[in-house]
Amino acid sequence: MKKNEIPYKIYLSEEEMPRSWYNVRADMKNKPAPLLNPQTFKPITEEELERVFCKDLVQQELNETDRHIPIPQEILDFYKMYRPAPLTRAYCLEKKLQTPAKIYYKFEGNNTSGSHKLNSAIAQAYYAKKQGLKGVTTETGAGQWGTALAMACAYLDLDCIVYQVKCSYEQKPFRREVIRTYGAQVIPSPSDTTSVGRKILQEFPGTGGSLGCAISEAVETAVSREGYRYVLGSVLSQVLLHQSIIGLEAKLAMDKYNIVPDIIIGCAGGGSNLGGLISPFMGEKLRGERDYRFIAVEPASCPSLTRGVFAYDYCDTGKVCPLQKMYTLGSGFMPSANHAGGLRYHGMSAILSQLYHDGYMEARSVEQTEVFQAAQLFARTEGTLPAPESSHAIKAAIDEALRCKETGEEKTILFGLTGTGYFDMKAYESFNNGTMTDYIPTDEEIKKGTDGIPRFEGNNF
Ligand SMILES: *Cc1c(COP(=O)(O)O)cnc(C)c1O
Repeated sequence: MKKNEIPYKIYLSEEEMPRSWYNVRADMKNKPAPLLNPQTFKPITEEELERVFCKDLVQQELNETDRHIPIPQEILDFYKMYRPAPLTRAYCLEKKLQTPAKIYYKFEGNNTSGSHKLNSAIAQAYYAKKQGLKGVTTETGAGQWGTALAMACAYLDLDCIVYQVKCSYEQKPFRREVIRTYGAQVIPSPSDTTSVGRKILQEFPGTGGSLGCAISEAVETAVSREGYRYVLGSVLSQVLLHQSIIGLEAKLAMDKYNIVPDIIIGCAGGGSNLGGLISPFMGEKLRGERDYRFIAVEPASCPSLTRGVFAYDYCDTGKVCPLQKMYTLGSGFMPSANHAGGLRYHGMSAILSQLYHDGYMEARSVEQTEVFQAAQLFARTEGTLPAPESSHAIKAAIDEALRCKETGEEKTILFGLTGTGYFDMKAYESFNNGTMTDYIPTDEEIKKGTDGIPRFEGNNF
């Protein structure tokens, strides 16, 4: 096919949009290990999970066998407000790099929340509403998830309480105000509204908080209030399931033009966009139908896949969530304060962790100044101002394209452009001023984090 036959943007019509999510666990030989109760270290029961999470979402969390899960009509209708997301050929970036590689990206920033998180927020809010709940609680770090959930809850008329990591609450006042505009209550974490918050405040007065701590506060609030449940924007298998819409649409769009990617790249915080993007392609690889290279890109300052251990660990600092077997830096690990680029979570999706452990996926870490260099080049060539998180994937895609330039290979690269960076201008400012620094944790700092992982029979690492 001649280059010009492929348009800049490939859209799907409403009729062509996927009607089911794809559950990659159905095609995995080694399934992710079961979740454990944080007190007993025994596999957690459905009943225990339903105290914290919505009923239907617990079913999805535990479902390892159904390959396709129908998307309810109400969610499909909501998706139609901002989906399908375009698949874009990065002609201008290719030209700038003078690479023979063909670069495509799936842009998920085309909604007010500015990221892919809305794909799962609407699903989780829908199931909470269906169960007749009054509201949901959650945490947000950078703010995208809180915004997405507030949008979804406003649409469905559900109450929404967001614990926002304190340093981000203070650094990103506009994010906070967007969330409040959609009607959600925003509380800086750690706060005195929960016992875990009060304990952390006493132990670390003046702390800027962490995602793990905000999760603990949100869970405590959900279980102590009648008619509330906790929802989580990443890491869980149900979230990867909802995010499979990204990969399904990308694959349908590529199939229209007989495009087959060689390399698929995504940034990895808790793993939901990467898991969603690669799922349908990974399914083909797992079934032995086709081979792809998958690359997870994480910050060098929070390197769970590349330097963490594969073990059962708490999903949160307060140790109230179920334990998950995953690549982790330890729930007490906190990335250094100079880290501006998101993706600060200490662990990784159990699905992606297992796939990485079994050799189906690669991982690499990148430093933040080189990430912002890639972001700048992307903004100047392709126009879109990318989120710092997304720019980790851009960096790796550019590196792969430059490698093709050396070898002359015409590889096809697909990466996930998860969102826009309008609320990250403080980070861009420090990059533009030349004051941005890199930080790579020492082996001792990594060990301090992983030493906090619980030791019990069967948890060998
Ligand atoms: C939350 C977020 C991420 C990282 O989360 P994952 O669960 O790893 O996908 C990446 N990009 C953007 C824009 C985000 O908001």
